[in-house]
Amino acid sequence: MHPRLVVVCRVSTRCNLSCGFCAYDRRLGFARATLGDAHIGHLIALMGARRRDPGEPPPLLSWIGGEPLLWPRWVHFSARARAAGIAVSATTNGSTLWRPATRSAVLAQLDELTVSVDAIGAQHDRLRGWRGGYTRTLAALRALARDRGEGGRLRLRANIVLMRSTIGQFAELCCALAEAGVDELSFNLLGGRDRPEFHADEAVSAAAWAEFAEGLPRLREALGRSGVRLSGDQGYLRRLGAAAQGQPWPVADCEPGGRFLFVDETGLVAPCAFTGAAYGVPLDQIKDLAELPARFRAARVARCASSCGDCPSTQVFGKFEQPTRLGSAAAHVVDLPQAHSDIRVRDYA
Ligand code: SF4
Ligand code: SF4
Repeated sequence: MHPRLVVVCRVSTRCNLSCGFCAYDRRLGFARATLGDAHIGHLIALMGARRRDPGEPPPLLSWIGGEPLLWPRWVHFSARARAAGIAVSATTNGSTLWRPATRSAVLAQLDELTVSVDAIGAQHDRLRGWRGGYTRTLAALRALARDRGEGGRLRLRANIVLMRSTIGQFAELCCALAEAGVDELSFNLLGGRDRPEFHADEAVSAAAWAEFAEGLPRLREALGRSGVRLSGDQGYLRRLGAAAQGQPWPVADCEPGGRFLFVDETGLVAPCAFTGAAYGVPLDQIKDLAELPARFRAARVARCASSCGDCPSTQVFGKFEQPTRLGSAAAHVVDLPQAHSDIRVRDYA
């Protein structure tokens, strides 16, 4: 399939949960910000006006936070984006999905919903600071799967953050989420940028990663038999394997701004979530999204962000791909350390 443009928009840094690994943990005392309506309207207009290659699916606008479903304007702007021919998704902690009205709005306005679930039962609740959260989230997923009906538009996804204390229950958690009606599962390793102290306790070891990666094909096959996709291609697995071993992974050219954009709560547009300060362009200075790749490349030449020396952006590494498709999509070789020189970095699809 032709890759589409994906724009992830962090609409707000407000959140109602307290995850010890996250910069937006509600216990952290800093002023929360929400992207203004005018910025979002402009972003939708830019995405709607963008010329597409033949066969390219509609661009995807994805709300994240903080907790984006606490943002009062998500229904309004999702409807507006869809009316402009843009597919819309959101990544949520699931805390508002117990409300029938929220679920109805999700079914009416979103093409995809990704729910974050990290462990089974009380362990998930502890990690997120939400008693009963696991049970409520899975009940909401069941209700959404039921209410969308056969062939319903909404694609239900779950993302799992792998930690030292949870990686051993990954297969069981995947099965529980599949049983609840999830169509697709993805995962990433706990990152250490936001909360290094939590990372020191919970980072996945190289040995635990190796065991996990070995069991993945069997699990993927088993889930596939029940129609559930477990994403993450070989390039992605190798990238995470290097991270588990503490090996940096420089990327010389991620084709910044070509297929993926990140917009933060202040209205800065960047090639990923990690380079707003170095390469970000204010939304209100952009007249056409097509101008961004050249601007990002120039910014990188002028001052290369330290993140590019150990690229943490999962979109670059095939997080949402499947191994069977390796080699079938456009790929380009990038500058990598000797140990990784056989890896190709793929476009997000
Ligand atoms: S629910 Fe999400 S945004 Fe909120 S603290 Fe947890 S990880 Fe961060
Ligand atoms: S950190 Fe990675 S995705 Fe972000 S601009 Fe650098 S190379 Fe690209």
